[in-house]
Formats: sequence, structure tokens, C-alpha cells
Amino acid sequence: MTIYPKLIKDALEKVRYPGTGKNLVEMGMVEDNIRIDGNKVSFSLLFEKPSDPFIKSVVKAAETAILTYVDKGIDIKGNIVVETRQTARPEPEKLLPEVKNIIAISSGKGGVGKSTVAANLAVALALKGYKVGLLDADIFGPSQPKMFHVEDARPCMVEAEGRELIEPAENYGVKLLSIGFFVNKDDAVLWRGAMASNALKQLIGDANWGALDYFLIDLPPGTSDIHLTMVQTLAITGAIVVTTPQDVALADARKGISMFLGDKVNVPVLGLVENMSWFTPAELPENRYYLFGKDGGKHLAEEFQVPLLGQIPIVQSICEGGDNGSPVALNPESITGAAFQLLAENVVEQVEYRNKNTAPTHRVIVTKK
Ligand code: ADP
Repeated sequence: MTIYPKLIKDALEKVRYPGTGKNLVEMGMVEDNIRIDGNKVSFSLLFEKPSDPFIKSVVKAAETAILTYVDKGIDIKGNIVVETRQTARPEPEKLLPEVKNIIAISSGKGGVGKSTVAANLAVALALKGYKVGLLDADIFGPSQPKMFHVEDARPCMVEAEGRELIEPAENYGVKLLSIGFFVNKDDAVLWRGAMASNALKQLIGDANWGALDYFLIDLPPGTSDIHLTMVQTLAITGAIVVTTPQDVALADARKGISMFLGDKVNVPVLGLVENMSWFTPAELPENRYYLFGKDGGKHLAEEFQVPLLGQIPIVQSICEGGDNGSPVALNPESITGAAFQLLAENVVEQVEYRNKNTAPTHRVIVTKK
């Protein structure tokens, strides 16, 4: 039979876009570029967002409709080009052009010490002489201003690069911006969804970060649209997932790792940090008490074949350091400071491997005793 573009459009009118009751033609998704070459048919479907969850299923339904309603001999599989409207968004590579490495720090659930690890890793990297920036994107509990003892900072605007930019706060050699500087704690809940995503985009693109070796992002716990926004906005070098050795935390960390490695997000996982690995009382420094189980994070790292970047003990000073705005990593001589130094070294090593494209496929780094 002879195939005409109109026949293809008729078939696409039989495919509804989920949740709208409208078909693909009515939705304006069928581009005017239907090409017919013998029995080969190709054209583009236009989606609003690259993150549209229905892209795969709609393309499949469109293929099936063409084979069913036009001709089952048509060569259509793989010939539908997916296009998205959001092409005006700056290319991720163009944002933060002076930043060498962007690291997202995440956890499956709250309270496992993700923010503590982010703060201390930032300080440990700065102590090693790297230029470091930290974006506190944890809209559910922005705690970095307190950890860096800059709760009262109200970042001002500066003229830079011919634009008005937000000047990050700075302490312990780390440049810091937090959603907490701009939102009243009690209003944080209002800042979820699109509002929070837009605010974070501004804190990235309209701030005077300057040249940095490491830009760390303290993400909210779990898997949220903030994670998607961040990966779509920035060219992230890799993600670090923080967990405790406890089973419930591990189950959520597993989901977190799967999200980063999945098709939608597709960010390499630099490794796992096991926090609260054991408790050592100050008066018995040789003793280790595995309050949340032993080596849970290590086993999870092995399961996913990602490096275990560090094991951080439970120590009262870590908690106190967080509360009084003086991260323990500032003292690299202490047991905890040394643990964060080692973590920083392992992170640098992983990033350098990745940048050289020679990342080993399976490597578990175990902390020195
Ligand atoms: P999250 O960001 O995952 O919600 P936080 O970093 O806010 O977790 O940590 C939760 C609480 O646990 C804080 O009071 C913090 O000081 C404390 N904490 C985190 N890690 C440790 C540790 N290794 N030893 C002692 N206290 C810790």
C-alpha cells in the first residue's frame, strides 16, 4: 500500500497522552516532519520535558498504532525521534564554567548524617588546599548555616561578570549558600516543588561562586524532584551516598544508589560513606561497639560494586561540632578529623580516576585503622 503522512497522523490520533484524555495530534506533539521512504517512516514527537515519565510508553504506543492502523509491514521501530521543548535551558556544561568537579551528596533517609558528612568533607577538602563551595539544597532541613556558624549571614548582591550575583557566605575556607539563608524555617514546607527548584537554580546560576575545585551539593534525603532538577541543571561529576550500617537505612540507600544509576538520572556514584559505623568511648579508645550492626555500608558497596569511601565512627564531638558550628574536620589530628581527611583523600582519588576515565570497575577502599 502507499503510505501518506495523513495516514500516520490518523494512527497517532488513536494514541492518548496519559492523564489528559487528548491524543498526540491534539496535544501538538506530532511534528510536521513525517518522512516516508519506501516502507520506512520517521518523524519527531515533541515532549514538554526531558524528564517526562511517559516518553518510552508513548513512543511504544505510537509505534504500535502505526503498525496496527496503517500497515504492519512499516519500518518504524527506533525511527521516532524524541524532542523536548525545554531547549532554552542553559546547557549543564555552561553553568558554573569555572567549577572543576561537582559532587552531589545524598542519603536514602534523613538523620543518617548526610549534612554532617557534607560539611566535614567540604572542610577537609579546603584544608587540603582545594577551593571549595557548598550548596545546601536540603530544603527539608537546611542545617549548613548552623554547622558553619554563619546562621545570621544574609548574602548580599555583588556586581560580577557584568551581572548582579549573590555573594556566598564563607567560613573555614568554604563558600556556602543555603536555602536556609533565605527562608524562615517554618516556611520551608512552602518551598517544596517548583519554587524550591527555581530557588536552587538561582543559587547555582546567579551566585558568585567563582573558580572552584570542588562544588558540593547537600541534597535532601530520599529521591525527590530536587534531585532531578539538580541533575538536569548541572553536569554532576558524581554522587556520594551516605548511610548508617542499620538495615532500614541500607534499604533506603539502595533506592538512592539505584536512582543515581538509573536511566532518568544517570549520574555515576563515586561511592558510599558509612556513617555511625561504630561507637568508641573516649576512655576505651581500642573498643568498638557496633550499635547499628557491623559493615552494613561496606556490604552494600560491594553489592553495587561502588567504592566504600569512608567509615565514620559515632563520636560525641561530631555532634557537638555540628551544634556549635565548628566541624570536627577542622582538627585533622583527632580521630574523627582523621576519618574525614581520609574520606576527602578517597573522594579526590575517585574524582581523579573518573576525570582520567580510568575508574576501576570494582574497588572498595577500606579506611585505615
Ligand atoms: P542528615 O543530614 O542525614 O539528616 P545530620 O548530618 O543532620 O543528618 O545528622 C543528624 C544528627 O546526628 C546531628 O545531630 C549530627 O550532629 C549527628 N551526627 C551525625 N553523624 C554523627 C557521628 N558520626 N557521630 C555523632 N553524631 C553524629
